Amino acid sequence: MDPVTVFLIATLMMLANGGVLGLMHKDLPQALQPAAVSWRIATLLIAGGCVLFTVQRLLPPGFILPLANGLIMLGFSGYWRSLRQFYGLPDRWWLLLPFFIATLGIYWFSAVHPDTGARILFVSVAWSFIMLACVRILLAQSSRDVAISRRVMAGIFIAVTIFTLLRAIYFIFIGIHPDFSVTDSASWVNVVTPMIAAALPVIGTTAFLLMCSERIRRQWERAASTDYLTGLANRRTLADAGEKRFAENKGMAVAIIDIDHFKSINDRFGHDIGDVALKHVAASLEAACREAELPARQGGEEFVVLFNGVDADGAHAAGERLRLAVAAKPFVAGELNLPVTVSIGVAVQSETDRNFDDVLRRADEALYAAKSGGRNRVEVAAVTVADTAVADMA
Ligand code: GH3
Ligand code: MG
Ligand code: MG
Repeated sequence: MDPVTVFLIATLMMLANGGVLGLMHKDLPQALQPAAVSWRIATLLIAGGCVLFTVQRLLPPGFILPLANGLIMLGFSGYWRSLRQFYGLPDRWWLLLPFFIATLGIYWFSAVHPDTGARILFVSVAWSFIMLACVRILLAQSSRDVAISRRVMAGIFIAVTIFTLLRAIYFIFIGIHPDFSVTDSASWVNVVTPMIAAALPVIGTTAFLLMCSERIRRQWERAASTDYLTGLANRRTLADAGEKRFAENKGMAVAIIDIDHFKSINDRFGHDIGDVALKHVAASLEAACREAELPARQGGEEFVVLFNGVDADGAHAAGERLRLAVAAKPFVAGELNLPVTVSIGVAVQSETDRNFDDVLRRADEALYAAKSGGRNRVEVAAVTVADTAVADMA
């Protein structure tokens, strides 16, 4: 196949991909739309550059080469911007710098001082620079974004960069005829070039859409498992984790934490301030929790923390740690400075508990005792008769 046909097929595939992205762009959440728009425009710019390559013989090189290469370079800069937008990085003017420098260089080496080798080197270095900047962004997200599509995207950028550099080395090594053109069928590299150039607009666009769908899936998962107000685990996550830890039977314990006289905060300062106070207590509890402990919002002004591998004394100490953490941090909002306290009921998994709900029920009874005992205190659930019998036998 001659390079012009390959360029045309590649261009059609790019246009199709850019078009599909354009059609489904409105289906994407608002937050992902700027990145999708940038990606689509970049794809169309690269397609435009490729079309110009197919007609380059018809126009003077000093005009067509900077224009075609410039469009492609601008397209790559668009991918760079798109990835930055995807990860919430701000727009920067210097993103256009490699595009400007490279386009000027191409103009220089095609119109002012024609030198095909220098031109190819210039384009290759500029492409590689932008693509490696994209790889850097993608790899920097490895702790935040574990999606496979992110790694695939980085792989595509790396593969295209390697090809670009190898191609430049190959051309420099074999020496280039001054009349060289990327649409010459004499060189096999020219047949591969449009295919590789299409890798990002075509396979890259698919990877980009997968990155978007993975982001959406994870957001839904997070929304379904966390409490919208405090960001702690919600009741459903708590029930799942509680049942799992109960089944492991490694001495799990739970603390039910209830804010003291919370109704009066709502009554005196309004429900909105009440919400802020709830977030404040949630943050204090979360900060006081250790790695293996799971804090959750059970509902209303009631929280639950799951502990692992503790006996009654350990559970009491853990409850005290939480109680003191809340008491140590008054709730501050504007002029307001309110001391907040919590009452805590703790229960350790016992032989008589049939399931996680039984442990929770006993912790709730202990909480009731903490409230009637004067509040701002921790009570451990009473050891049941069956437990006493087991203890006696031991
Ligand atoms: P106690 O010390 O006995 O626990 O007294 P309390 O006032 O904390 O307990 P009570 O159960 O009487 O009141 C709980 C209040 O929590 C009532 C309800 O309006 C408020 N509440 C529940 N959920 C929310 C919420 O999401 N936001 C706000 N602002 N208030 C809530
Ligand atoms: Mg309550
Ligand atoms: Mg309360």
